[in-house]
Amino acid sequence: MQPEANFKRGIYLYVGRAKNGLQGRIKRHLRKEKKTFWHIDYLLQKAEVQEVWIKRDFFDECRTALEIKEILKDSSFPLKKFGASDCRCQSHLFYLAERKTDLEPLRKKLSFEKANIHGNQV
Ligand SMILES: [Zn+2]
Repeated sequence: MQPEANFKRGIYLYVGRAKNGLQGRIKRHLRKEKKTFWHIDYLLQKAEVQEVWIKRDFFDECRTALEIKEILKDSSFPLKKFGASDCRCQSHLFYLAERKTDLEPLRKKLSFEKANIHGNQV
């Protein structure tokens, strides 16, 4: 992936996992000032986070990525291997040109809770 990639206008979904400390990881993702380290950091420099979905128990991020691709048939992979450099997935980042699709059914189907990112309760 090119870190300086230009991201097209649209909706992005990213699947990630925090082995230790979900709260800390989400807070880091929401913070603008930080060193760019992960692929997602480059996107978040330009993007505005609208929602964070969480699952507190272990989940398989690769399986979740496959399920998202199956359910969101009109999504595409904007950047190959984004967030997926050490697995066999094509990408852990999904792109939708516009938010025509209601994403709530997807969230429920995948059994994720919506985190309260505006009230600082992550
Ligand atoms: Zn994967």
